[in-house]
Amino acid sequence: MVGFGLAVNRAASSLTAMNAASLARAAVRPIVDFALPPRCPGCGAVTQEPHRFCLDCWQSLTFLGEPCCAVCALPFEYGEGEAALCGGCMAEPPAFDRLRAAVSYGALPRKVALKLKYGGRPGVAATMARFMERHIEADGDWLLAPVPLHRWRIWRRGYNQSALIAGALARRGGLDARLDLIERVKATPVLRGMNPRERREAVRGAFRINSRYKANVKGRAILLIDDVYTSGATANACARVLKRAGAASVNILCWARVVRGED
Ligand SMILES: [Zn+2]
Ligand SMILES: [Zn+2]
Repeated sequence: MVGFGLAVNRAASSLTAMNAASLARAAVRPIVDFALPPRCPGCGAVTQEPHRFCLDCWQSLTFLGEPCCAVCALPFEYGEGEAALCGGCMAEPPAFDRLRAAVSYGALPRKVALKLKYGGRPGVAATMARFMERHIEADGDWLLAPVPLHRWRIWRRGYNQSALIAGALARRGGLDARLDLIERVKATPVLRGMNPRERREAVRGAFRINSRYKANVKGRAILLIDDVYTSGATANACARVLKRAGAASVNILCWARVVRGED
């Protein structure tokens, strides 16, 4: 459990605050959950098994994979070779080495992401993790880290949705994770509606490596976890601080990637 610094601290502090009655409630909760039928994370319809979409929702998802840009996973119409890059990555190489996403961003992936973001449903993070994990290269000695939220947002919401996904991925794959590896030192405005230059400016100086973990980053292959990849401004800013701290490589893994236009 060494890898779960943040999660462990939070669990410990909430445990001390628990009284006997809430402990008893917590003890029966798994049984109650077990009794409820599993539901589609998209529409709420009852499904055969947990973490499965119903047929309608499943068919509306566009799963991403080959053929695509070797760096940013932009889908290609035809296979152009494993190392082929899209025009954007050729013109302006990203600060990260490789990005992969489970699905193309659209109405349903957005709905699922919002459910996690504002509903705080850890089950949704586990569902996302199941769809994301096939993109993790098995031979890498990954250190997982979430894109951080500013602490004001964490206080308001109580958690960081990307940290919930990173935690779920780490638990499922037995991977090393530091949920507070990167810190957001500046609250950034909503990037929607900004052009690429404005986005880059908005996130400049927003991130730093937690000073406790500087030694953990040096020479490591970092897998940065995010819910939605839009313009790449945030992912690039995080990748830059990781590289500056000596990371050997920085890959991005997200639930959904915007493929056309902007959200
Ligand atoms: Zn559904
Ligand atoms: Zn690309």
